[in-house]
Amino acid sequence: MTMKVKTQIIGMEPYKPGKPMEEVKQELGLSEVHKLASNENPYGPSPAAAEAAAEAAGHPEIYPDGYAAELRSQTAAHLNIDPSQLVFGAGSDEVILMLCRALLTPETNTVMASPTFSQYKHNAVVEGAEIREVPLKNGYHDLPAMLDQVDENTRIIWVCNPNNPTGTYTTKEEFESFLEQVPSDVLVVSDEAYIEYVTAPDYPDTLSLLNDYPNLMVLRTFSKAYGLASLRVGYGAGSTELVQALDPIRPPFNTTTIAQKAAAAALKDQEYVESCRRENREALDEFERFCESHGLSYLPSQTNFLLINTGIPGNRMFDSLLRKGFIVRSGESLGFPDSIRVTAGTKEQNQLFLKALDESLSENSTLSEQ
Ligand SMILES: *Cc1c(COP(=O)(O)O)cnc(C)c1O
Repeated sequence: MTMKVKTQIIGMEPYKPGKPMEEVKQELGLSEVHKLASNENPYGPSPAAAEAAAEAAGHPEIYPDGYAAELRSQTAAHLNIDPSQLVFGAGSDEVILMLCRALLTPETNTVMASPTFSQYKHNAVVEGAEIREVPLKNGYHDLPAMLDQVDENTRIIWVCNPNNPTGTYTTKEEFESFLEQVPSDVLVVSDEAYIEYVTAPDYPDTLSLLNDYPNLMVLRTFSKAYGLASLRVGYGAGSTELVQALDPIRPPFNTTTIAQKAAAAALKDQEYVESCRRENREALDEFERFCESHGLSYLPSQTNFLLINTGIPGNRMFDSLLRKGFIVRSGESLGFPDSIRVTAGTKEQNQLFLKALDESLSENSTLSEQ
């Protein structure tokens, strides 16, 4: 190419999403395919949110409210913070992008776990920053080791809690003691994309720390438990000062009216979220029982997915399950080569999936013995 794009983005791979359902149906001639690959809510959004979206869809000619005033005031009330402490993004992905754009340069570095959610590194690379990856310790964030990586050029530390792709979480005690030791000019991001699924009593209450730590930003999304992944809406909650610094970077109309209306309606229906959390916990319990009865190891999950070590190469299990109509994520691209990451589906989907997994396990273990 003759145009001079930033050298650091030459050869960079775009984000690899879970395989789309229609593509799989066509390729394999399957009539029914279950996507358990992207941690979407298998039950969809609250009916009230779907209704609000449909209604808003009738007026696509009008630009959205860039400030998202209605969603902002509702979210602030829900979180018990000030509306000025929120920045909305086209998914929390976009807030990650804005943070990197605001804080990172080639002279700086950023600290994160490995493996963790891919977008921290991806956006930091685009800004030319140095990436300091700290291996997970037995599947968990090693916060003391991450702290050791901090120097005067560190600008952002990412804590994915619970962590994707492991499902593991950092406790309140660990997080608070870590935060206390981070220099006050280094931003700590607590990415809580799965918080609605968390049931652990010692999970941190980061919102209550925002007043004491202006260098803390909490990321949340409407894509996972709220079931609105396609509409692209998430947010960051932090100090008013930080939010004001980010706002000029935010594209003017980055969240649509449809997304704002649907998210506001979804937020009001907490009973629905609660029922999804209950169903999800039951599904994970069932997955775990399956693993135990089949001698498979897994990491305990506070999310809506489970990382299962099948002892068989992830891509092979992926293919085998795909042929039976199930799209999962191979651990090979996630840093766990002998694992698959499976999103909890509906009760029916999970029954069918465990049957397929059972078959795939026998087929592939016989293969490896040959
Ligand atoms: C899914 C996910 C996100 C991004 O979700 P959006 O759809 O962009 O809001 C962010 N962080 C983690 C850890 C995720 O798993």
